[in-house]
Parts: sequence; structure tokens; C-alpha cells
Amino acid sequence: VRSLALALFAVGGALLALAAVLAVLLARSLTGPLRALTGKVERLRPEHWDLRPSVGSGDEVELLDRVVVDLAARLKVLYEHLEEEVRSRTDELAKQYALDRAVLQGIDAGVLSVDKEGMIRQANAAALRLTGAEGLVGRPVAEALDIRSHRQTSSGLHPVLQCLKSRKPVRSSHSMHAAILRADQALLPVTFTATPLLVGRILQGAILVFQDVTEERQVDYMKSEFISLASHQLRTPLSALRWYLELFSEEAEAMPDEKKEYLTEMRTSVERMVNLLNALLHSAKLEERGIEPEARTVDLSQVVRDMAVELRELSRAAGLRAEVSIPAKKLSLETDVTLLSIVLQNLVSNAVKYAPRGGKVELRLAAHGKGAEIRVTDTGIGIPAGEQERVFQKFFRAKNVRTLDTDGNGLGLHISLTIIEKLGGSLTFKSAEGKGATFVIRLPAHLKRKRRA
Ligand code: ADP
Repeated sequence: VRSLALALFAVGGALLALAAVLAVLLARSLTGPLRALTGKVERLRPEHWDLRPSVGSGDEVELLDRVVVDLAARLKVLYEHLEEEVRSRTDELAKQYALDRAVLQGIDAGVLSVDKEGMIRQANAAALRLTGAEGLVGRPVAEALDIRSHRQTSSGLHPVLQCLKSRKPVRSSHSMHAAILRADQALLPVTFTATPLLVGRILQGAILVFQDVTEERQVDYMKSEFISLASHQLRTPLSALRWYLELFSEEAEAMPDEKKEYLTEMRTSVERMVNLLNALLHSAKLEERGIEPEARTVDLSQVVRDMAVELRELSRAAGLRAEVSIPAKKLSLETDVTLLSIVLQNLVSNAVKYAPRGGKVELRLAAHGKGAEIRVTDTGIGIPAGEQERVFQKFFRAKNVRTLDTDGNGLGLHISLTIIEKLGGSLTFKSAEGKGATFVIRLPAHLKRKRRA
């Protein structure tokens, strides 16, 4: 029994060893092709796309091997196509960039781009030429481009910084007389526009475009000089004419009706000329900075109340209804009441002049922040949309008023805007043809001290 057990034990052991050897051989033959396939896939990368079938096991692994080889061939085609595409797009972008740069450099106006902090990122050739600076890129714009003006921006900030802060365009106005202080300390008259650079709603920086307007400023100056000179020269003969007409008027009673009419017409024409001359002199003086506002604390409620008396009289004569609104609480601020009254008179007389009989004219005073707002509204002929941007220009009269029989020289609003800007306020309007107009004066609580050029 013992020898039988031993024999069985030995046979069992031998069978076990055989089974182990067989198992190892079987596993190797199964995993070998898989391992080879894994190695091949791992080597797959650009420049190594060419795979060849290497498994000949005749089972699923061989099938898998073929699929991998096919996949690699397709990847190769796709990759090469992609590479070609990227190359051509990069070329296109480079060409576009070169073209954009050439355009930027070719523009005769100075163009600067700044980042959110106001650091100059790009500057074209004209910007360097106009500022006379050696280099602008990398410098803070407020320091590199010293913009001087008769009038500061409302916040007192550099226009570009104000544009970054408000995220709105900031433009130089005509009356601002902006100039930049060049590197050689000379002042160069310019007009400028700072525009925020927004991508979606995210602020990336701003663009400043400025132009040399030396010639225009000179022509403007010469024009003003001429107007001022001519009006001074015309004053004396006109005064004489007026005086003699007065003399004749005393004897008018004895004249025949026809002559009396001529005399009246002559007097009206002379009056009109005197008014025009006064307006011209006013505008010239304002432009030469001959008139400086004198700041005083003013009871604005009283000023508007006084104006209301005039408005009511004018409206009655013109067959209009007048409506006046003044807050119960007294409104006072620091301004120049003489200059402000000129503006109010202009706006009120325009409202009455351009509203047909039966219409309405309103004068409203209200607080606005720490300052005040005065509105003059009428139900008149309004200002045609296409002409609105020229309303404040010297001598401008809209088409629809030129066909009406109204007196005017197109200076009133120009003078009014110059005055209001001198007072540190704003004068704006809203109007539609045939629907009347609303002019809005906004005044700060205090007269701002000006920064001189
Ligand atoms: P004017 O002496 O011609 O009234 P202004 O400078 O006061 O000159 O006004 C310029 C022009 O603006 C006017 O000729 C007119 O075309 C237009 N305008 C001004 N105010 C009004 C208004 N209230 N309604 C319609 N048009 C107006």
C-alpha cells in the first residue's frame, strides 16, 4: 500500500509539474502577440506613423493588429493635412499682421494703444513724429503724452485715463483748444479721440488717435481776428447811421406814409445789423478768452424767476403758453450770472421764435447732483435730424428756419455753448423735426478753475 501511495504521489507530482509548464507556454503564446502590439502602439507618434502587421496568430489579436495598422495609416493622412492647414493659416495671419502694421504705420494721425493700466503698448510712426519722443511704448500715457487744454476733462483726468475709467469715448471739443506738449517743449495743437477697447464686455485698454490741427487753428484764429476787426470797424459807421435815423424819426410824423414805412424798415435793418455786430463781438471776445467768468454765489431760483418774467412777456406777444417750474427749495450755486443770463436769453428767445402760435414753451429748474439743471422746451418746428450735429457751429441755421420768416444769425447757440463750457457745465439738446426741442443746461456747484495751456 505504501509503495502504491508513493508511486501515485510521484505520478501526481509529475503531472502537476507538466501542467505548470504547459500553462506557462500557453500564456506566453497568448500574451506575446498582445505585448508586441502594445509596444507598436506606444511607438506611434509624428514621423513614426508607418506600422506593419506583425502578428500572425490567426486569432482576434491578429485582427486587432490589422485594425491598429489601418488606424495609424489614417492618422498619418489626417495629421499631415492638419499640419498643412496650420502652416497656411499661420502664413495668412502673418500677412494680415504685416498689412495691419503697415496701415497703422501709414496713418498720418498719431495712434496709440494702451492697456488697462494706461501703459502704452503700441505707437505708430506719426505718434512718434507728432510728439517728438524717442520712444513711447512701455511708458504711462499720462506722462508720455501731456495733453494741455483751456478746459480740463470733467474729471480732471488725462483723457485716456478718463476713457478707461468711464469706458466711454472721450473727444476733444472745438472750444477745448487741446494741444500736446512735445518733447522739445513746443505746444502742438491737436484734436483727439480716446476710445475704449472692449472685447465683449471686458475692458482691454484704449486707443488714442490724435491729429495735428496747426493749420486749422491758424485759420480759425485769422477768421476770429478778421471778424473782430471788421465788427469793430463797422460799429462806428453803424452808430452814426443809427443816430441820424433817430433824428429823422423825430420828423417822421410829417412824412407821407410810404416814407414812414421806409424809415421803419431802415431802423429795423440797422437794429438787426447792430445785433449781429454785438453777437460777433461777443463771440470773438469769448474765443479770445477776453471774457473770464466771475464766480459768485448765485440764487439760481431767482435768476430763473426773472427769466420767467421775460419768457411770459415774449410768449404772450407770440401767442404761446408759458409754463415755468422752479423747485420750492432755493437753489444756489457758484457761477457767473451775467454770462448765464446771456445763455438763458438765447435759449428762451429761440424757443419762442421757433414755436408757432398756439404752442407752448417751458422753463424748468431742478437740482442735478450737487449742481443744477435748467431745461427750455418748446413745441416748435424742431431741428432736422441730419443737421443736429452742426447746431452749435458758428453761423449755422437749419434749413427749416431759413424758409421761415425769422430773424437770426446762427451765433446764439455757438456763444451759449462757449459760455456754458467756460462755466464748467454742459449744454445739450434733444429734438425732432416738427416735434419741438428741449435744450438742457447743466451747471456744476462750483466754477472750476481752468488749467491754462
Ligand atoms: P439763430 O439766430 O438762427 O436763432 P442760434 O445759434 O440761436 O441762431 O441757433 C442756430 C440754429 O439752431 C437756428 O437757426 C435753428 O435752426 C436751430 N435752433 C435753435 N434753437 C431752436 C429751437 N428751439 N427750435 C428749433 N430750431 C432751433
